[in-house]
Amino acid sequence: MNCPSCNNKLQTVEITGVKVQACVGSCGGLWFEWSAIKKLKERNPAAGAELLHVERVEGVHTFRDVQHPCPHCIRSLLYRHCFSRQFRYEIDQCAKCAGFWVDVGSLAHLPLKSPTPAEQETATAYFKNLFEENLNPEYLSHPDTQEAAQTIHHIFRFLTPAEYLRLLPGGGVG
Ligand SMILES: [Zn+2]
Ligand SMILES: [Zn+2]
Repeated sequence: MNCPSCNNKLQTVEITGVKVQACVGSCGGLWFEWSAIKKLKERNPAAGAELLHVERVEGVHTFRDVQHPCPHCIRSLLYRHCFSRQFRYEIDQCAKCAGFWVDVGSLAHLPLKSPTPAEQETATAYFKNLFEENLNPEYLSHPDTQEAAQTIHHIFRFLTPAEYLRLLPGGGVG
């Protein structure tokens, strides 16, 4: 299975029984099969935080402005739920297999522990951009999009390090 963003070979990383395909040593993106998403919803918040720090290489050429093929289905394209140039994240989903492609962008640059006030501010601005500007339920009119926004929240609840959880909308609960 190859990375839809930079074409590197994805590696399986298992964390608390959840298998994720990670683009290790290249762009650091993460592929969640639908079965993995169902599992991570049952895990404790922050259980997957180590996934933010899979080895990434800066400056890897990623194809941000084109549609990516699904790494699982290959022939179907991922559609983009949201992205940010400022925070460099991108979240896509396959309409066929329902898997999610998540490049967390600048969230991966924050330390897992003991963030400085400036780093906490960055995390606050990041989550505000993602959940209030891009995925605000008030602006998402379609039920499918609202459901996807909830799933994205679950993914971030799993990935966000414990010390940042209170900055996540809903405090990482739910
Ligand atoms: Zn990659
Ligand atoms: Zn697919």
